[in-house]
Amino acid sequence: MRLFSSERGVHPPDGKHFTANKKIETIMPKVGQLLYFPTSQHAGTPTEPIVAVGDYVKVGQKICDSDAKITSPVFSSVSGVVKAIKPVLLPAGNLSNAVIIENDGKFEKSEEIGKPYDYTKMTKEEIVDVIKKMGIVGLGGAGFPTYAKINPPADKKIDYYIVNGAECEPYLTTDDRMMIEHSDSLIRGILIFQKMYPDAKALIGIEDNKPTAIEVMRKAAEGYDKIEVVPVKTMYPQGGDKQLLRTLTGRTFPITNPPSRTPDTGCIVNNVVTIMAIDKALNEGEPFLKRVITVTGDAVKNPGNYEVCLGTTYQDLIDAIGGFKAEPKKFIAGGPMMGFSMYTLDVATIKTSSGLICLTEAECENPKESNCIRCGKCTEHCPLNLAPYALNQYALRGDAESFVANNGMFCIECGTCSYTCPSKRQLTQSISAMKRTESAKRKRR
Ligand code: SF4
Ligand code: SF4
Repeated sequence: MRLFSSERGVHPPDGKHFTANKKIETIMPKVGQLLYFPTSQHAGTPTEPIVAVGDYVKVGQKICDSDAKITSPVFSSVSGVVKAIKPVLLPAGNLSNAVIIENDGKFEKSEEIGKPYDYTKMTKEEIVDVIKKMGIVGLGGAGFPTYAKINPPADKKIDYYIVNGAECEPYLTTDDRMMIEHSDSLIRGILIFQKMYPDAKALIGIEDNKPTAIEVMRKAAEGYDKIEVVPVKTMYPQGGDKQLLRTLTGRTFPITNPPSRTPDTGCIVNNVVTIMAIDKALNEGEPFLKRVITVTGDAVKNPGNYEVCLGTTYQDLIDAIGGFKAEPKKFIAGGPMMGFSMYTLDVATIKTSSGLICLTEAECENPKESNCIRCGKCTEHCPLNLAPYALNQYALRGDAESFVANNGMFCIECGTCSYTCPSKRQLTQSISAMKRTESAKRKRR
């Protein structure tokens, strides 16, 4: 098929070789271990706890929910007693209320889980409702509730299901391993989507630095006319929804207000692990309880891909896999381009936790910012054709009007501009902070 590769982007060192060949290992929490379930693990309105301190909860029991339009319930991944409900740190550094449960080690299952659905006899609305009920959100990092993403207004005709297996973030190998080890689950999830949208062709986009995943998925897709595996050029941020959609279909997004969405182009995009979660929800009746996290970096003794019960802290995860071989200086939750620096590992893993990178001093870059030399590199590489140097200036002087007028709110915070800047200017950080301030102002209006 014809590819429409975006010319914009960068090639950071990928660091994937540390874990790309490491099979997924499951880490179970110990008896007496505390697990932390923040009420806010998704894009949208936070949930509220629906259990109280002292309650006994089971695996798969819903513990937080909300009536808001865009939200997603939270489930306990262990059985045990609720010890506290209090604010905790999220990987991004902000605070969220959380339900804290002491694992009793019995993993007693809620009566609600383990009842598969026969999706072949269900309507689109009924399938969407199950995906909502099961707490599935975009697991590639954005955390947008999946039920809202896959249920556009009825007048939108969906021609393509863009299955995002690009995993362009350096160091992360979660999606790669999940495709290699669970290709059947991905195909089943795609078939559920195609029950909802029978005319949609699924295009599985995988960067060409994952030859095994491409081969395994091609084999798994054999015999399905409407599922095609498409290798795409390795380039950051190829895995952005809009970038991959453009690469695979040639369809582009005009910058409009309100912003256009993927269904406006006749496509819906989901990350591969999200689609596997849809399979588990419908075909096994299981809400979102566990996820695979790439733990890597030169400080880690046993880098690898680990499946953890959500709510496990990064510290408990590191302890369970053998700790550090050298003193860590920097922790990053997620990938190095879009992830968040953390000053502590006493932070819970949440639905969107895809990676933990622990670096020694030797690997940490502490660039000193200097003046902009007007080289234009940031603009040249910005996948959205924005002018990051100008947005940075508007952000620094608090000029919201110019920032908005120059499309600052459309920035996808991919980090490409900061990466390319020879003056090491903190472009993404300033733009992102300005976006947050402006969004908060809009909500208050
Ligand atoms: S301005 Fe935003 S979208 Fe453009 S390169 Fe920078 S972070 Fe990425
Ligand atoms: S890349 Fe850096 S130095 Fe070059 S124009 Fe952009 S902000 Fe200025």
